[in-house]
This record gives sequence, C-alpha cells and structure tokens, in this order.
Amino acid sequence: MATSALPSDHRVIVVGAGIAGLVSALLLACRGLPVTLVDAAPTPGGKMRQVQVDGVGIDAGPTVFTMRWVFDQILAEAGADLDALLQLRPLSVLARHAWRGQAQTLDLFADRQQSADAIAQFSSPAEARRFLAFCAQAQRVYSTLEGPYIRSERPSLFSLAGDLGPRGLAVLAGLGPFASLWRSLGRHFHDARLQQLFGRYATYCGASPWAAPATLMLVAQVELDGVWAVDGGMHAVARALSQLAQRRGVQLQYGQPVQEIMLRQGRVCGVRLASGQALAADSVVFNGDSHALASGLLGGAVQPAVTPTARGDRSLSAVTWALHARSSGFPLVRHNVFFDADYRSEFDDIFAQRRLPRQGTVYVCAQDRDDAAQATGGAGQPERLLCLVNAPADGDQAAGSGLRSFDPEETDPCEQRSLALLRQCGLTLQWQPHQQLRTTPQDFHRLFPATGGALYGRATHGWMSSFSRPSAASSIPGLYLAGGSVHPGPGVPMAAMSGRLAAATLLAHLDSTSRSRRVHISGGISTPSATTASTA
Ligand SMILES: Cc1cc2nc3c(=O)[nH]c(=O)nc-3n(C[C@H](O)[C@H](O)[C@H](O)COP(=O)(O)OP(=O)(O)OC[C@H]3O[C@@H](n4cnc5c(N)ncnc54)[C@H](O)[C@@H]3O)c2cc1C
Repeated sequence: MATSALPSDHRVIVVGAGIAGLVSALLLACRGLPVTLVDAAPTPGGKMRQVQVDGVGIDAGPTVFTMRWVFDQILAEAGADLDALLQLRPLSVLARHAWRGQAQTLDLFADRQQSADAIAQFSSPAEARRFLAFCAQAQRVYSTLEGPYIRSERPSLFSLAGDLGPRGLAVLAGLGPFASLWRSLGRHFHDARLQQLFGRYATYCGASPWAAPATLMLVAQVELDGVWAVDGGMHAVARALSQLAQRRGVQLQYGQPVQEIMLRQGRVCGVRLASGQALAADSVVFNGDSHALASGLLGGAVQPAVTPTARGDRSLSAVTWALHARSSGFPLVRHNVFFDADYRSEFDDIFAQRRLPRQGTVYVCAQDRDDAAQATGGAGQPERLLCLVNAPADGDQAAGSGLRSFDPEETDPCEQRSLALLRQCGLTLQWQPHQQLRTTPQDFHRLFPATGGALYGRATHGWMSSFSRPSAASSIPGLYLAGGSVHPGPGVPMAAMSGRLAAATLLAHLDSTSRSRRVHISGGISTPSATTASTA
C-alpha cells in the first residue's frame, strides 16, 4: 500500500459489510481516512451470516476458512494479530466423501501422503500416485497464479501473459490449452469418483466443472495449505473485523440500505439512504454485487460503472437447511460431501434446465464436530448442521412467470431427494419443524440484491471469465468496487483480497491526486481537487 501523507479529510463511505467491505473500511481507517461503513443488514458479514434456529446460532454461509495468509497480512497492516482476534483450529480431516449406495467413504487429509494412502485403499495404489501428480500440478498452477493474478490488480490477458513469463506460461500450457476442469481431471484420474470429488472444486466459485477452466484445480492446493475451524463459527470472523474496524475509527451503520450513490460533476459525492438521509463522501467503495450497479439499483448515474451480468452468466445459487437435528448412522466429521450417481445431470439441471437438481450433491457441515466423529454436545443430542444443495440463480423470477419460484412445491421434493441420498449413504437426520430454517435462491436474492440468488458473482465459465470481472477501479471517479463479484473473485479469502485491492487503489488515486495538486499549486495553476469538488 502507498505510504506517503494523505489528505485526512477525504471522507469514504463503504457500502456493504461483507468480508470485502469490512477489509476496505478497516485498511482505509488505518491510513487515517474518515470512514463510514453502511449495511442494509442488522449485522456484519453479508453472506458470512449466522442464523438462530431452536435457540442456537448456525453458520448459514461459508463454512471453510482457508488461505489464512490473506488474513495474517491484512491484520498485520491494521496493526492486529489474527490469533489474538480469533481462535482457529487446523483440521486434519479436510472432508469426508460418500457416494450413493456405497459403504466405503473417502477422507481427504491436510497431510497429502495420508490422503494418498486413503486413496490407495479406496481406489488403487496407481490412483494414489495419480493423486500425488495432480497435487504437484495444482501446486504449480497455484504458485504461478498467486502473484500475477490473485494478489494483483485485475490483469488483462496480455498483461498476465507478460507477468507469467515463459515458465508460468509453460505451467498453464501444461493444463492443455483451454481445457475445462472436468477434462483436465479426466486426464489425471481413472476412478470417476475422484474426478467427481475434485470436479466439485469448481462449485467453490459457483461454476460447473464442465465449463470451469482447469486452473481451478488450484483450489486443491488452497485446501492442502490448510483448512481451519473458527471458534464461534465463520460469522465470528466478520464480528471480529467489524469490532476492530470500529476500534480503528470506522463509523458503523447497520440496518441502513443505501438507495443511491450520488454524483456531482461526474464524481462521487455521497450516498442516499433508504430513510432519505444523504451522507456526503469523497469516495465510495461498493461491496454489493457489481450487477446491482449495472441494473440501476443504486441510481442511474452509476449504472454505466460496470457491464451487466446476463442471467445465463450467473454463478450457482443454493438451497440451504440450517438444522438443529439429531443425526445417526454415519460418522459425520466437520465437512461432509454426499455424491449422487450422475454428476453431469446436476449441472445440466442447474445451468441448462434451470431447475433444482434431480441428483444434487449434498454438502453437510457439522458445526459441533472437528476431526473426531463426535459432536461436542454428546451422542443423541441435537447438533448444528448446515446442509446445502446447489441451485440455479433464478431467485428473481416472479411467481406465476412459468419459471421457478422455489416455493415448497419445488423445494420440498428437493429436500426429500437430498434426505434419501443421505439415507442411502447411511445418514439419518431427524428434526422438528421449529429446528429448521430453509433458505432458497429467492431468499438469497432478497438478502443480496440484483443477484437472483447467485452467491459467487459471475460464473467462472470459460478461460476468459477470469478477465471479465470488474476491477477495483470503476469508470466513475471516486467509485471503487470490492467483493466476490469483483477481481480476484468469490470465496472469503478472495473477496477479502478484493477489499484490500479496493483500499489500495483508492489510496493510490488519492496519493497521485494530492501529489498532482501539490505540483499544480507550486506551478501556480489551481485545479479543483477531489475533495473540493465533492459535497460539503
Ligand atoms: C451458503 C453459502 C456457502 C458458501 N460457502 C463458501 C465457503 O465454504 N468458502 C468460501 O470461501 N466461500 C463460500 N461462500 C461464498 C462467500 O461467502 C462469499 O464469496 C463472500 O463472503 C462474499 O463476500 P463479499 O465481500 O462479496 O460480500 P457479501 O457477503 O456479498 O456482502 C455484501 C454486503 O453488502 C450489503 N449490501 C448490498 N447492497 C447494499 C445496499 N444497497 N445498501 C446497503 N448494504 C448493501 C449486503 O447487505 C451484504 O451485507 C459461500 C456463500 C454462501 C451464501
């Protein structure tokens, strides 16, 4: 980040207290800028939310904490320490995988040799060797892209090629030019179940394995670098960052939807809240989905800031069930994945038929468990579970339009199919109606406006998709973008990176503006600065 003196009267409003908005607000306040953080929701975290069911708090958004270096770095810049803020416990079992009708399960471990041994038993020693070769390639892809893509401002295809250099380009060429993740996995694994298991990594970005680029295999490396459980749940990360931001001087306003981002003379001058109140600002960081700007939800003036996301380009949504339920028959660990037989049909249903999958994979996060298959509440007691099935992001379809409305007529059968799959894998869940909270794409659309319920911005489909996300700097002076729909993409650590990039970009612009102002003044030419052009 830039380090020279900055004008300390440059007011910033951050719209959205998702992970990216929290990071931007924190880092900008740490550089001495007056920052106000405004969110429509009553609590921080955005998708990283917690719901109350049957008197207990259940994480109802992301459940996996990875890439801790991102948070170590951000907090170091904010003069804080991750271990002092949060209790993190590394998981040795990354996830347990089961397949319909098969008694045998497969665990992946933080220790890759332990995973290879498990794969040798589950499949064959040859498949275990192929797994190790896959890990080596995933590691090469990750280290190739971390600097020039993940940590950097959004590159163009050409600038990325330049930054990668011959060695980096060779690593990507080794994936097979323009190969999909699915195709690439087919070259690595002979056992279709392993192709399915690693293909699921595409869904971490809300994509289909058949359309996602092979580079997404880097998710395997991200998990091998460590998966942590957070005491208090993932929502605790948002709460901790919000409290730290407040200690560093950020003014927090929750429960305040922003209706308009206002411009004066083509430059951001503030926001108008739904209550009618106007808040003046010299810069605004927008942390909602970028399509909300493009669709005019924040007013016509900022509509041209980004290009719209077509419905067909939306990433996955989900139906989730936050449960306080009794489980039996299957040794759940923290993260559990239950696969059905016809994996391709899941993505055909969602992306082509645009309906809830007939054979959807079910993810179950058992939030009272770590590595040991024993819930902390004790055997036979209700435990906190989040079950998730992927869904099309059509939560903005009006009922009666002939398209999906995700009412119980559609979601009840999906629930029944999911429970049947779990039973086929040995797991029985039991709960009372008051012990369940279901969230559909329509609910996600209400919570995250203009998304249709898409949880990961634009789908990472095709090789060029990585270059189609907006960057932190918009085309409107004083308006910056941060979040999962923005470069470098979705997921908690990536969105956090985008928040850091938005803060850095704003500071760099401010730095160059104040320098040029000093130069102009010393040369006797007076031009309006960003600050004086804005509202008082
Ligand atoms: C069910 C689920 C499971 C997931 N699983 C994982 C996982 O395991 N691992 C992972 O890394 N990622 C996962 N993700 C994705 C991850 O949660 C997101 O990519 C990330 O949290 C997005 O953060 P963000 O900064 O984009 O902000 P968001 O979380 O999208 O928050 C945006 C905030 O902006 C606010 N806002 C928007 N518009 C306005 C407005 N006009 N006025 C005021 N406020 C506004 C919203 O209220 C919201 O609080 C999951 C998401 C969900 C929902």
